[in-house]
Amino acid sequence: MVKISSGKQDVVIIGGGLSGLSAAKLLTERGLKVMVLEARDRVGGRTYTVQGPEFQYVDLGGAYVGPTQNRILQLAKELGINTYQVNEKEQLIHFVKGRSCPFNGPFPPVWNPIAYLDYNNLWRTLDEMGKKIPADAPWSAERAIEWDNMTMKELIDKLCWTRVARDFATLFVNVNVTSEPYEVSALWFLWYVRQCGGTRRIFSTTNGGQERKFIGGSGQISERLAERMKDRVKLNSPVVRLEQTEGTIRVETLHGEEYEADYVISAIPPTLTQQIHYSPPLPPLRNQLIQRVPMGSVIKCIVYYSRAFWREKGLYLLRNAQ
Ligand SMILES: Cc1cc2nc3c(=O)[nH]c(=O)nc-3n(C[C@H](O)[C@H](O)[C@H](O)COP(=O)(O)OP(=O)(O)OC[C@H]3O[C@@H](n4cnc5c(N)ncnc54)[C@H](O)[C@@H]3O)c2cc1C
Repeated sequence: MVKISSGKQDVVIIGGGLSGLSAAKLLTERGLKVMVLEARDRVGGRTYTVQGPEFQYVDLGGAYVGPTQNRILQLAKELGINTYQVNEKEQLIHFVKGRSCPFNGPFPPVWNPIAYLDYNNLWRTLDEMGKKIPADAPWSAERAIEWDNMTMKELIDKLCWTRVARDFATLFVNVNVTSEPYEVSALWFLWYVRQCGGTRRIFSTTNGGQERKFIGGSGQISERLAERMKDRVKLNSPVVRLEQTEGTIRVETLHGEEYEADYVISAIPPTLTQQIHYSPPLPPLRNQLIQRVPMGSVIKCIVYYSRAFWREKGLYLLRNAQ
C-alpha cells in the first residue's frame, strides 16, 4: 500500500467526468482541499473529443446542449468555450414503408386524422404525467408506486391506439435513454423527460436539447477544468475500496495508493459503484438499488463526406451540423 503524502483531503471525488470535475471546481473555489481520482488515462468520461487531420475534431460521446442545460452552458462560457447552432434550415426525411417524407421540426407529420389525435394525446399525456412528478423527490409523486411498477412499454401500449404513435413512442424512448421501452420504469422516464423541459424540448433542435454543440468539442470542458486543478486530478487511479472509520474515510485505488478524506463524492455511474468494496457495507437499500440500474447502450457512427450533397437536395443530416 502506498500512502499518498499530500495529507488528508477535505473531499476525495471518484470520477473525472463532467460531474466529478465540476464538483471539484465548486469545492475548490470555496477553499476546500480536493482530490479527483479518475480510473482512465484521460478526463471527460462519457464526453470524448478526438482530433484528426481530416476532420479536425469530433465528439464520440456527449455533444449536444441546449436551453435547460444552463449550468453546462454557463460553465463552458466561463472556460472560454463557445457553442455553435446546429443547422436545421433544410428538411429531414422520415422514411416509412419505402417512401421518403421530408419534414421540418422535431416530429414527423402524421396525415391520418386518427393517428394524429393519438399522437397528440400521447405527447400531451406524457407531459401532464411528468408535471405531477416532483423534480427532487420523484418517489413522492401521488402515483409513484403505480408508475414505477409500470414499464414505458406498458404505458405506451395503454396510451396508444395506432401503430404509428406506438412506433414513434418507442423511437422516442430509444433515442432519449438508449434503452428499450420494456427496460425502463415509466416513473423514471417521465421524470427524466420532464427535467429536460418536456417531450418537445427534449427532442427539438432549435430551442431544445440538440440546439448547440461546442466549437472544438465537449471534451475541452473537462480538460480545462482538470488543467485548473493541476495535480489535484490523478489519472489511472480506479478506486476499489472505501473504508470509513471514526472521522476518516480511507480511499484505495487498484494500484494500491491510499488517500484519506473527511468526505467522498462518488461521481461515477451508479452501476459502477458495485465494483468498489465498502467497509462498513453500503446500506441494504442502496446495495439493492445499484444492482438494478444498468447503463443504456448506444453506438455513435460518424461519417464524413467530401461534399454535403444532401444540402443540394434541401435536406440536412439528422442531429448533425456537418
Ligand atoms: C455516445 C453518447 C452520446 C451522448 N450524447 C449526449 C448529448 O448529446 N447531450 C448530453 O447532454 N448528454 C449526452 N450524453 C450523456 C453525457 O455524456 C453524460 O451524461 C455525461 O458525460 C456524464 O458525466 P458524468 O461525469 O456524470 O459521468 P461519466 O462521464 O461517466 O464520468 C465518470 C468518470 O468516472 C470514471 N470512473 C468510473 N469508475 C471509476 C472508479 N472506480 N474510480 C475512478 N474513476 C472511475 C470514468 O472513467 C469516468 O471518467 C451522451 C453519452 C454518450 C455515451
